[in-house]
Amino acid sequence: MTKIQTDKTIELVINWHVTEVCNYGCKYCFAKWGRPNELHRSEKEIVKLLDNLADYFIKGTSTLKEELGYESVRLNFAGGEPMMLGDTFVTALTLAKQKGFKTSTITNGHYLINGKLALPNNSLDMIGISFDSQSLDTRNKIGRKDRKGNSFGADDLKLALANLTQSQRGIKTKINTVVNSLNLDEDFSELITDLAPYKWKILHVMPYGNDELLISKTQFDKFVLRHSGLGLPLFPESNSTMTESYLMINPQGCFYQNSSNKAGYKYSESINSCGVNKALSQIEFNPKTFASRYQTVNVDVVEL
Ligand code: SF4
Repeated sequence: MTKIQTDKTIELVINWHVTEVCNYGCKYCFAKWGRPNELHRSEKEIVKLLDNLADYFIKGTSTLKEELGYESVRLNFAGGEPMMLGDTFVTALTLAKQKGFKTSTITNGHYLINGKLALPNNSLDMIGISFDSQSLDTRNKIGRKDRKGNSFGADDLKLALANLTQSQRGIKTKINTVVNSLNLDEDFSELITDLAPYKWKILHVMPYGNDELLISKTQFDKFVLRHSGLGLPLFPESNSTMTESYLMINPQGCFYQNSSNKAGYKYSESINSCGVNKALSQIEFNPKTFASRYQTVNVDVVEL
């Protein structure tokens, strides 16, 4: 297989949906696994999972490593809201760093300014903060608020990014916006210009849960077009690239992927009980197919 050359380091991304619990209630949220016994409840299991992943993807010469020619592995802590785990989140993050992973997390930002979470200095290489609207009313309608009605707004976002830039040397900041029927006409150009994130990722709302939020591909494209040509670090991501270009682990510590007939997901046994190699085979994981998708996505990213 020809390796596509880019001027950026090729990075393998593993998304660990560490918990499905979240303090927000977005109507389009797909992070639901039926409240399984989440692996993070045992520190021993966290250590074992990180060791398994590091042995296979960082130290080992796995087929995937040869096919992709990646140079680093980033473990992305997703949820739910990973920061709801407090000290456990910090422990897992610190351990991942010690074991050689680059680290990142996706968060709704709430605990970056409201919580007692002490994020150790230089423990995060990248952060993605979800932000869907500058209007409190719109955020409320989407469900981006906690039980007390707190909602992470534009000023909070500015403060959080300023703090992170101080405490996390060289951190890459991403803002993730899910375009849906409620924020479709909003203009983000001034805010994004002001914040100057590394990436502004624009995601098309997934057909999950609340149908009233759905928009067509044409509507999504119009949103992207309206924000194009302004020098913004725009990275539109379609539904298919979202689920097919990362390796994904659920809160129980099992790999999952879209099943070949597109009827939901296919899950492996727990990685800690059967090992990475066997678990990958159980989700019909094919390094060649994955590599071609993965490199297409990487090249798209470089070219945009
Ligand atoms: S913030 Fe994220 S995890 Fe929480 S409800 Fe919204 S989409 Fe789901």
